[in-house]
Amino acid sequence: MTELAAPRYDYWYSYDEMTAWLQQAADLFPELCSLVSLGKTPEGRDIWMLEITDPATGPGEGKPAFLVHGNIHAKELAGTTSSLQLIHSILTGHAPGVDLADLLRDITFCVVPRLNPDGAEFALTTGGEVRSRLEEHRIPNGLYQTDLDGDGWIVSMRLERPDGDMKVSDEDPRLLVPREPTDTEGTFYRVYPEGLIHDYDGGDFAYHTRSHDFNRNWPANWKPEHEQGGAGDYPFSEPEMAALAEFVYSRPGIFGVLGFHCGTNAILSPPSGGSEDDISRGDREVFRRLSDRAAELTGFSPRATINYRHDSQPPITLRGHSADWGYLHMGLYHYEIELGNIYNAAGVTDEQFFGAEPHDRYRFETDAIRYHDEHPDHGIFLDWHDFDHPQLGPLQIGGWKRFWLINPALDALRDRIAPGSAQFILEYAARRPRLEITDLDLASFGEVHRIRTRVSNLGAFPTNITERGLQLRSLKPIELELIPGEGTELLSRPRYRTIGHLGTHARSPEFEWFVRGDSGAQVTIKARCQRGVDAETVVHLP
Ligand SMILES: [Zn+2]
Repeated sequence: MTELAAPRYDYWYSYDEMTAWLQQAADLFPELCSLVSLGKTPEGRDIWMLEITDPATGPGEGKPAFLVHGNIHAKELAGTTSSLQLIHSILTGHAPGVDLADLLRDITFCVVPRLNPDGAEFALTTGGEVRSRLEEHRIPNGLYQTDLDGDGWIVSMRLERPDGDMKVSDEDPRLLVPREPTDTEGTFYRVYPEGLIHDYDGGDFAYHTRSHDFNRNWPANWKPEHEQGGAGDYPFSEPEMAALAEFVYSRPGIFGVLGFHCGTNAILSPPSGGSEDDISRGDREVFRRLSDRAAELTGFSPRATINYRHDSQPPITLRGHSADWGYLHMGLYHYEIELGNIYNAAGVTDEQFFGAEPHDRYRFETDAIRYHDEHPDHGIFLDWHDFDHPQLGPLQIGGWKRFWLINPALDALRDRIAPGSAQFILEYAARRPRLEITDLDLASFGEVHRIRTRVSNLGAFPTNITERGLQLRSLKPIELELIPGEGTELLSRPRYRTIGHLGTHARSPEFEWFVRGDSGAQVTIKARCQRGVDAETVVHLP
């Protein structure tokens, strides 16, 4: 039998290559996997989700579920590779300390390796600039990105201008750095994306775009675009996000969620706006413990999203961000792993990165270009060359392929980051709430039988997952039910009990029913848990 190929770490996955890999996983493990399209993108691509569960214990939609998504930001291709690594770890049984067979009987993994296939394809195949989706305004004198010199790549154009705001770096003549106020003599440049100008009249021109950021399109604290860049028209307005939302709200059993991103290394948790006091003390404590474990496995440091910044900057306030949605709306321990970028690849640590004021970060390009020189086969940077622009005249084209700046080193991703992230997700998921019918006590008085029992949660999460979850109207309490079998009659009431929620390794009070029944007849006791594993026991009457 063909073995499932390990994810490749010598390139970034194109849409077709990713689709083929997922299809192969589904073909090789038809009993565990189903490849589902969550919907179509505006350019007609399927948004693939691989659902993994052991169907012997029931279909995926009835089980607690763990959602992982990657590449919501177009250039952050390492999120796709990391998602494939997670799938590979699950299907090949690689998760030290986690009983995967048992876990797959209990839960479903829902993995969306590339939430934004259109954006990723543009980023990967052109090297151009895009956050999630680009809406370039074709208005008169408006610049739009396109490959001009026919090499297939969209990089940068630099125009020599007396009022230019950039100059050539002293450290490396290929790099541009901001012009200082004291720089009065020399050659200065204006830098633009490589492109053409729509309906150009020969005068001033500008790069006008509407840049969508799908990670500002979630409903938590959503604000319109003039208050939060990239927000979109309304929460979940973008087709990819609407498709994800439709799925998420059809699966009330989702008990864990994680998104992959590529910024300087970090394990990010809520809040993404407001203050850390918005997270209850108990939930903060669990976040801290889980984050510490993620840090151990990846080597990244944990931060609240509001602190993903230099200490001299005010706290970050993100509106419509996934982290606050995950915690405030869904009551989940929502994580984002920032898998790293080219600066990390070149040896710049997150502390050094955050230790520099944002306007000083140009100096890290010296590290990045050294990394480029050490990896010439990647083609991360294109040398400046003269070009006669049909509208602007002589200028130079060259610079960074944008997606390469945003992703970590492929070998570090392979050796530590992706496997460490996968292991974290599997350990996190293994904490699922798990009900069991316990302390069963049967006493018979002739043909009348008294049944006493408790329900226990054997999981390492409470059934409400977070304290926040207790406030959610959408989160149902545990329900306990006695189902009389043939030849039995329930004598006492009520048949259904609503238990509320159970803490970690906690058991419920005792419940009691009386049934009349023939010897050998049976009754069934069922306990249902929205975000945990249900329990069922059959009682045979003596
Ligand atoms: Zn991102």
